[in-house]
Parts: sequence; structure tokens; C-alpha cells
Amino acid sequence: TARVIGIDVGGTTIKGIVTDDKGTLLESLTVPTDAAKGKDYILASLEQLMSELLRLQPGVRAAGIASAGRIDARSGEVVFATDNLPGWQGMRLVEWTRGKFGLSAAADNDANAALLGEAWLGSGGGATDLVMLTLGTGVGGANMIGGRIVRGARWYGGEWGHSVLVPGGRPCNCGRRGCAEQYVSGTALARDAAGETGRPYAGGGEVLRDAARGDEAALRLIGRFAGWLAILIANLAIGLDPQAVIVGGGLADSRNIWWPQLLDRLRAEGADIEVRPASLGNLAGCYGAARLALALPAAAGSP
Ligand code: BGC
Ligand code: ZN
Repeated sequence: TARVIGIDVGGTTIKGIVTDDKGTLLESLTVPTDAAKGKDYILASLEQLMSELLRLQPGVRAAGIASAGRIDARSGEVVFATDNLPGWQGMRLVEWTRGKFGLSAAADNDANAALLGEAWLGSGGGATDLVMLTLGTGVGGANMIGGRIVRGARWYGGEWGHSVLVPGGRPCNCGRRGCAEQYVSGTALARDAAGETGRPYAGGGEVLRDAARGDEAALRLIGRFAGWLAILIANLAIGLDPQAVIVGGGLADSRNIWWPQLLDRLRAEGADIEVRPASLGNLAGCYGAARLALALPAAAGSP
């Protein structure tokens, strides 16, 4: 059976897996990186991770790479990246992978890949019309209609993280203002909590933990977060009427504290939409990237 690599490049870690054509997990590794140090630093981490996966699992046929940013899925180039990944724009992911490892490769936006993964092996449950939101360092989004990811004419189809939630609001890393990412990401939650309490917060997970302990400031922020997220979801439901919206990313891993509030807010908005937590956790993007690799035509001469 075919073996492929699935990679998910993030701002603080790069995750990689090897699966077979059924999606059976054969290997899983994570290496730390620091996107702020620039492209060469990310590439060094990526090369180390892929070399290690190939050493552990010889016989890999292809690789899929998921990354934040607008990715030209036809050429495998990063056509736009926000300041979350400085210097990443222009990176030719597919070409790089071929050149370094001689592997055929595919690339896609990380949220698109997460949706492919969830639809394949996760909480998609056989549905063909789905929207995915990933709430982490940034906010990723993806649309699937009729079983196909809708990437759009300029590769930013489904980028819900940069849809405007608050007109004229907080400046975003993409250069615009009021984007959803500045309100419902883990980064935004941590920044709000730090602003309100004067204490440092490393990420949104810490705010959720404080809220779970009954901390009033944290609970207030979580309530506001749930309200913003409900509006985002209600709006995308009007646009696409998907069978379900799957919510993943770091903030969804510890969702107990805010999930009921999200459902309440959606009801209050009168939104007729089903929301489901992602079930592949932080490996969803890797599985989707592996799926893309499996879909590549086998190289000439290979079995
Ligand atoms: C990027 C998206 C990405 C998301 C999640 C956002 O900042 O603009 O392309 O999908 O973060 O990583
Ligand atoms: Zn933005």
C-alpha cells in the first residue's frame, strides 16, 4: 500500500505524519520552529522533520504540505502570507520538496487541509457540504461544496479569519481592520486577557484554563468570544448553508467552557446551523495533507 507524508507548517511547530492509503497512522513527529526567525529557519525545521520521517518510514511515495497563508494549490507556491509567517510569501513548497527529497508533492492552505482531513477521517461524517474554522494562533477557514474544497479564483476562498467582524476594528496582520482573527483566535483571547488583568498570557489555552477555574475576567472574555464566533458562523451559514460547521484548532481542544455558550448565542442569533467539534485534533491538517499526497498521480515507473 502507498505511504505518504502529511505536513502542517505552523508558526511555532511543524507537525508531520506518515500514513497509508487508508489513513492509518504509521508515524507522527513534531519539531519546534520559530516563524519570527524567518523563512530559512522554518525550512531548516521542515527539512529536519521530513528527513526523520523518511528515515523512519522508507518507501514514502509523496508528500503533502499544509501551510498558513494563501497557497496556489496548482503550483504549490505561497502567494500571500501574513506577518504571522514573515518572509514565507513566494515560497515554492512543491518545488522545494521535489528538489530536496525527490518526492512528488502537493501543497494547500492549512485550514483547507484540516477540512480535507476531517471530511476523510474525522467529524465530517460523510457530509459533502462543510465549513471548517480553526481557532489557534490565527483563524483558518475552509469551504467544501459537493465534496470539493472551494479554493476560489485567487486562492483565498474560505479565509473566514479575514472576514470583517468589526468594521474599522482592530488592525490585522493581513493589513486590514476588524478581521475575525483579531477577535476569535487564541492570540486575540490571550492579548485581551493580558490587557484586562495586567498578567501575561502565553496563549488562549491559559485564558480557557482560568475561565474553567471561575476567574471572572476570563469568563467575561469567553462570553464575548462566543458571541463573536456565533456571528461569524451565522454569517457563513447564510452564505453557504453547509450541512455542518466543524470547529477545530487549539481553542477547540479545550472547548468545554465555551461550547455551550456558542450554541446559546447561535440560537439567540436564530442561526439554523449545526456545529461540530473537530475530532482529529491538531493532526487534522497533517491528515488532509496526506490525503492530497495520495491523490497525486504516481510517478512514472513507480508501482
Ligand atoms: C492565515 C490563514 C491560515 C490561518 C490558520 C491565518 O492567519 O491568514 O491562511 O489558514 O491563519 O493558520
Ligand atoms: Zn486579516
